[in-house]
Amino acid sequence: MLDSVDSIAEYGLYIDGKEMPSASGRTMESEDPFTGKPWATVPDGNEDDVNAAVAAARAAFDTGPWGRMTATERGRLLRKLGDIIARDAAELAACESRDNGKLYREMLGQWQYLPEWFYYFAGMADKLQGDTIPSDRPNFFIYTRREPLGVVGAITPWNSPVLLLVFKLAPGLAAGCTFVVKPSEFTSVSTLELAKRIEEAGFPPGVFNVITGQGAMGAKLVDHPDVDKIAFTGATSTGKRIAASAAGNLTRVSLELGGKSPNIVFGDADIEVAVNGAIAGIFGATGQTCMAGSRLLVEKSVYDKVVDLLVKKTREIRLGNPMANETEMGPIANAPQLQKVLEYIKVAKEEGATLACGGQVDPDLGGNFVQPTVFTNVHNGMRIATEEVFGPILAVIPFEDEQEAVAIANDTRFGLAAAVWSQNIHRAHRVAHQLRAGTVWINAYRVVSFAAPFGGFKESGIGRENGVDSIREFTETKSVFVELSGAVRDPFKLG
Ligand code: NAD
Repeated sequence: MLDSVDSIAEYGLYIDGKEMPSASGRTMESEDPFTGKPWATVPDGNEDDVNAAVAAARAAFDTGPWGRMTATERGRLLRKLGDIIARDAAELAACESRDNGKLYREMLGQWQYLPEWFYYFAGMADKLQGDTIPSDRPNFFIYTRREPLGVVGAITPWNSPVLLLVFKLAPGLAAGCTFVVKPSEFTSVSTLELAKRIEEAGFPPGVFNVITGQGAMGAKLVDHPDVDKIAFTGATSTGKRIAASAAGNLTRVSLELGGKSPNIVFGDADIEVAVNGAIAGIFGATGQTCMAGSRLLVEKSVYDKVVDLLVKKTREIRLGNPMANETEMGPIANAPQLQKVLEYIKVAKEEGATLACGGQVDPDLGGNFVQPTVFTNVHNGMRIATEEVFGPILAVIPFEDEQEAVAIANDTRFGLAAAVWSQNIHRAHRVAHQLRAGTVWINAYRVVSFAAPFGGFKESGIGRENGVDSIREFTETKSVFVELSGAVRDPFKLG
């Protein structure tokens, strides 16, 4: 169905290994932000669907064949899934571009990289060892087991739907958990396509379930008593609501939230390279990334030079069809997001920031296309510098020296990412250590790896995804005490 541009693809929920309509009987349209037309329909689910999916995941975890598989067998399935995704990367990438308007070549790069997550965590599945504990009690042998946490509810946003799911799924499956996934109501199709590949790889029914619908379904999933962990990526405001309601059942949570990341250019940087990095940081993916370098901090000694080059290069960015190879920036992903971006442009002007370029819907392309926009003479107290826009809007802030740069960079409630541009190795590391952010790039921007922990300080989140330790977030540790003497013990004496 994906081959045909004109027909509307129809999808069902994926529960217990079966594609099915929602109990609500309703469907909703997925709109292509480039054409402005629907291209697929997915179920608009309800609470009954949440309950059915959680029951399937619970049964698969508690009594299904999944629980009896060895970790080595789980690893084998994950490797097979990686191979299937590598085979179908182009088709799956096209599907995400149609759903969220991001460049096809960026999504293709993402999908071609995704199998590595499955290979990395496949290798880790049977190396998840417990410890033998040096016992303080001579008649006890003590060891620990790392057991799978249980049923994971994964709730994902629209900007990189499956990449952000795989950050959770690959370590979670490797650890032996089962999943109920609630993708964004704007971009559900690629997760439903992933379900088909998971089935093809041979995962037993119920291990991976997908329910589609509005945010209220995510809320039902969070409240469900049979869910052991919620792994969420999305807005900070939603993350706070999730943390509050997860507290009701003491459900574990990991939260990957928003950012207002500082991109700091020192006078001793290679200016051309730094400006390219600033552009990649804010206009890549039309600024719709959690790690967007939305605050550009520039040392006063090079401020004019940086701004001139930045504005020149920003004006040259080619907007257009996300599927075309020459396009550098696609449309905003959906109508509410477009309104939010335009509102922030208005706010920035009202607050007295200087519009250096862009600042409106593109007059030629119209629709969801906003011009890449640079505001200069921003100070860090303005809303354009404190609130996440999630669009192609850059706030340029001057600074005097290193101390002031660090102070401005850290003066935010977020702490997801940051970058330092400097050719002075001492300064680059020194500043990187002082920045309160989960990821810091030196002379680079927007690089992630399955091997490197990713997550936020402060209101950018709780927990880390990726890297060796992330698999532990999908386990519980159990201590086992084994009595060695076999002697009859005094029942009223401890140990
Ligand atoms: P969102 O918070 O509006 O929605 C994310 C998901 O949560 C969707 O599936 C939505 O249906 C669901 N949801 C909505 N309300 C809910 C509720 N009360 N309970 C449970 N689930 C609910 O976010 P979005 O607009 O889809 O995505 C953009 C946001 O995501 C930005 O703030 C961005 O910074 C953030 N993000 C963070 C990361 C990261 O890794 N830190 C990555 C990408 C995006």
